This record gives sequence, C-alpha cells and structure tokens, in this order.
Amino acid sequence: MRYKLIIMTTEERAELIGIIEEQIEKLEGKIEELKEFTEPISPDDSIGRISRMDAINNKTVFDASMRNTRERLLQLQNILTQKDDPDFGRCLKCHQEIPMGRLKIRPEIRVCAGCLRTV
Ligand SMILES: [Zn+2]
Repeated sequence: MRYKLIIMTTEERAELIGIIEEQIEKLEGKIEELKEFTEPISPDDSIGRISRMDAINNKTVFDASMRNTRERLLQLQNILTQKDDPDFGRCLKCHQEIPMGRLKIRPEIRVCAGCLRTV
C-alpha cells in the first residue's frame, strides 16, 4: 500500500502535543478529585445504613471512573513519549496518517478509521 503524502506539519505536531499535554493535565486533576470519593468507606455506623449503601453504590461508580481515567492517562502519557517518533500520528497498522481532526478529539487513537473497522 502506498503512503499518502500528507505529512503532519511542525505546527500541527506542536498543536497536537499541546492538546495531549492539556488532556493529561485535566485527567490528573480528575484523578485527584476522584481520590476523595474512592477512598475506603469507613466502617463506623455514624453515616447510617442507607447512606452507607449509597456511599458504596457511588464508590462503585467512582471506582470505574477512576479506572477509565487512569487508563486514558496512561495511553496519553505513552503517546507523548513517542512524540518524536516518525510514526507519531500515523496508523499502527497501515502507517497512513490519521486525520488531524480525529487526533485532536482523541489523541490516544493509534489506528485509522479504516483499520479500526477491520480489527
Ligand atoms: Zn490504518
């Protein structure tokens, strides 16, 4: 397969790196916020049985959110380590450039739309 000859410009690359760094910062902030809600629920009776059940239900939601956030953060940090790689912004499978519009929204994607469909 021939490579498309659209090469990400230095400006686009810098912009994308900025977006990734910004998202990393946001996710780190979110993790800090979530920490407060994912701490173990105290076993004492001071909060009462119903609110304790509520707290446990909420904790499950926050735990899941924490997992997703951490996972996304790792992906983004991982991508940032590859920012000087010639394959940065290219599909891992077919090596075509992933459109900037897509990368700006989800910089952690590693395969193009075409390859995503065939996975
Ligand atoms: Zn591809």
